[in-house]
Order: sequence, then structure tokens, then C-alpha cells
Amino acid sequence: MKQHLNKLFLTLSILLLFTVFAYGWGFWAHKKINHQAVFTLPSAMIGFYKSHITYLTNHAVDPDKRRYINKKEAPRHYISIDHYGKHPFDSIPVNWKDAVAKFTEDTLLGYGIVPWQIITMEYQLTDAFKKHDVDKILYFSANIGHYIADAHVPLHCALNYNGQLTNQVGIHAFWESRIPELFGDDYNYFTGRAHYIEKPQLEAWQIVKGSFDAVDSVLSFEKQLNDKFPSDKKYAYETKGRQTLKVYSKEYSKAYSDMLDGMIERRMREAIAEVGSFWYTAWVNAGSPDLKNMKDKEISEEMKRQLAEQDSLFKQGKLWEKDHCVE
Ligand SMILES: [Zn+2]
Repeated sequence: MKQHLNKLFLTLSILLLFTVFAYGWGFWAHKKINHQAVFTLPSAMIGFYKSHITYLTNHAVDPDKRRYINKKEAPRHYISIDHYGKHPFDSIPVNWKDAVAKFTEDTLLGYGIVPWQIITMEYQLTDAFKKHDVDKILYFSANIGHYIADAHVPLHCALNYNGQLTNQVGIHAFWESRIPELFGDDYNYFTGRAHYIEKPQLEAWQIVKGSFDAVDSVLSFEKQLNDKFPSDKKYAYETKGRQTLKVYSKEYSKAYSDMLDGMIERRMREAIAEVGSFWYTAWVNAGSPDLKNMKDKEISEEMKRQLAEQDSLFKQGKLWEKDHCVE
């Protein structure tokens, strides 16, 4: 009986770790990145973005909410680049069309499409600026911020995305949610000004490459730590609302964060600079439209209705997810 209970408990713990994992950078970090990106903008843009900073911050997490509703959403958040061989960046074409011709759309969707998703959103944001469409400028600004941030997470760029191939299940949320939530208030988010991106598609690939280069450290450091850290001190229990969650202990988190030597802080800071720069580039490419007249415009009633509907579906989806886990 006891063994059975232990097994059940272990299964539930793993499910909880997986459930937390499904969020991506973690809601806290996503919101922080979009929020801080506003302050990288030049004077012609910052007034408009500041007056909508609450929207841009809160809706930084919408793409993760959509994962529960829309089946097409999941591959937009990652790319398991090591699927494409030992030197994947030499093997995979930069442009979507060439990549489809070489590997088929099904394969690309199967292993994630984040660098192309960033470009799709950049076109849509540019178009929204050209049309002076406040709803869409805000929608695509908030959303592109999410995908750019996800591309900065090393484990969004590898097949072993949650340590499932190396007995490190849970490391995904550990890196991108637990540690920034514990220590992120002390990070330095100063990035300097947004810059114009000459070649957005290549920039998106550079971001992925930067992430992929860090994968080995992300995994091997945790493995080393796990081998030397007292196993009874690795996890702790924390209560959130009415739930008790099994989490990595603060001591273990601090030790891992120290080994990473500022990596998470750097990736967050780079994400902030890139989000601001992609916003700025879309605005310039749209002909630098005057945003002053749009500053005080609210989002439309129709947009509010759509967002409320999405939120309610997300809540239902989440409930389904929880029920499903308990079975
Ligand atoms: Zn995501």
C-alpha cells in the first residue's frame, strides 16, 4: 500500500512539474520582459507604449494561454534544432519556403518553428503600424514579445527540452520559472536603446543559436549539482493558494543559479533588448508613423470581447488539464 502511495505521489509530482513546464518562460518573466522592453524605445514611440504598458505586460502570456485552446499554437514557441543534425545551423535553410522544400512542413511543425513565427509576427506588426490600427499594434507587439522571449530560453531550442532524455525532468521550468521568480527582482535589466535590425530573419536565427549554445551548460551544470547535493534537500513544498506544490528548494535553486553565473539574467536582458528592437524595426519599416494621436486610444470593444473569450476558454482548458492529470 505504502509503495503504491509512493508511486502515486511520484506520478503526481512529475505531472505537477510537467504542468508548470507547459507555461514557457513562466508568466512572471514573460511579463517582465515585455514591460522592460518599453523603456528601450526612442522618444517617438515610448509615449504610446508607456500608455499601453499594462496591456503589453498582461498580454505577454497570451500565446501560452492559447496553447490550451489551439492545437497549432504549441510549435510556435520552440525549435528542437538538434533534430537537424550535428551542425543544424548549416543544414536548415533560413527562409520558411526553403526549409519546407528541404524538410516538409510536417517535419518543421513537428520540431518547432519559433524563428519563423517571430518573422510572421514582425510582418503583421509592420502592417498594423502602416494601417494605424491600435488593436493590432498592441496585439502583435505583446505577442511577438512572447515568441522572442521564448527563443531566448536554451531549453526551447533542444530535443532534450525538459531533461527527459537525461533523467533531469523538471529542469525546463526550473531554469525559466523557478529561478527568475526567486532571484529576478535583483537582476539588472538595463539594456540601452532599441536598435534597427537590418535582417530580422537572421537575427531570429542568431537568438536561437545563442540559446542552443547554452544548452550544454544548462543540462550539465544541473547534473553536476544533483550528483553532489544532498538528495533530501533538493526539493521543498510550497503552498500556492490551495495547492501544495513540489518545487526545487531555495538552496538548490541558489546553488544552480550560482553555477550558471548570471546566464538567466543575461538571457532575460537580451530578450528585452531584442523585443524593443523588433518593435522599433517594425515601426521604422512601416514608415515611422506618428503614434502621438494614437496614444490615448483604447483597444476596441470587439478586441476586449475576443480577449475575454480567450481568457475564459483558457480557464476551461486549464481545468480540463488538471482533471486529466488527476486521472
Ligand atoms: Zn511560450
